[in-house]
Amino acid sequence: MKQEILQKALKNPFCDARFTKTEEGKTLLLLFAPYRTEKSAPREGFVRISAFYPAAQQAYLSASALVLELSGLAARLYHRHGLKKLAASSFGFQGKNTLFYHPVHGSFVAMQGIELDVPIEADEPACENRCIDCGACAKVCPVGAFPPDGFQKESCIRYHFGKPEIPPEYGRHLYQIMGCERCQDSCPANQHLPEIESTVHEYDLIEVLEEKHTKEIKTLIGANFGTRTRILNQAIYYAANKRYLPALPAIKALLGDEQAGAAARYAAVRLDNR
Ligand code: SF4
Ligand code: SF4
Repeated sequence: MKQEILQKALKNPFCDARFTKTEEGKTLLLLFAPYRTEKSAPREGFVRISAFYPAAQQAYLSASALVLELSGLAARLYHRHGLKKLAASSFGFQGKNTLFYHPVHGSFVAMQGIELDVPIEADEPACENRCIDCGACAKVCPVGAFPPDGFQKESCIRYHFGKPEIPPEYGRHLYQIMGCERCQDSCPANQHLPEIESTVHEYDLIEVLEEKHTKEIKTLIGANFGTRTRILNQAIYYAANKRYLPALPAIKALLGDEQAGAAARYAAVRLDNR
């Protein structure tokens, strides 16, 4: 049965699948979809979407389809917190930034879990911890999310990007729509990864501010994250951080907007004083 399930699971976007157990001892199938961040800068006047979110949405849709295929085994998506920890205890490790690191693709994997009501033996643990506590992640973090005693989730930019509105002290470090990958890009455990095919998602910034791509971005990253508020707020901060003056009229048009007005007023002041 294990092989049959793996055969169904191991297709695009999943490069790897492992069996482990939940805390309650249920069978849990872990699925890994790799992605890569783009090292080059986006084109002038364009804004990029973090590579993680399209990969995560694709992984979610594919795992949901697999759940249907495995419905005879009472398969269901694992929605609870703690998936990273469960995966790390069976396979890979968690870095100082608390992210899960896959042995081949480092932290650049989107993960899904499927619980099954059939007893399947867990795979042998393979947990070589390659976090060498070098502190490179802490050094590159612009908001001090690494206090001496570890990692503080609430201080991480990613925590605030997930919220509808972003405080300026986090927004001013934004360099793409959704996500910050500075600590992952600087981590030695993420160097020399095998190359994989990856698509860069980049949009004309003014058109994003004019809401011409909202629907498309929502489809790309999923309705939970791809809300009008998040897309607009992040695009506004991005324009301000890039000092992209041609975006000023589009930003001024949002000054009175209920969901994006605060960010627009912040950006308008920064761009006007440029
Ligand atoms: S940068 Fe260094 S300390 Fe941070 S997660 Fe990577 S190996 Fe660990
Ligand atoms: S994702 Fe960005 S803000 Fe969060 S810990 Fe890493 S470098 Fe810091």
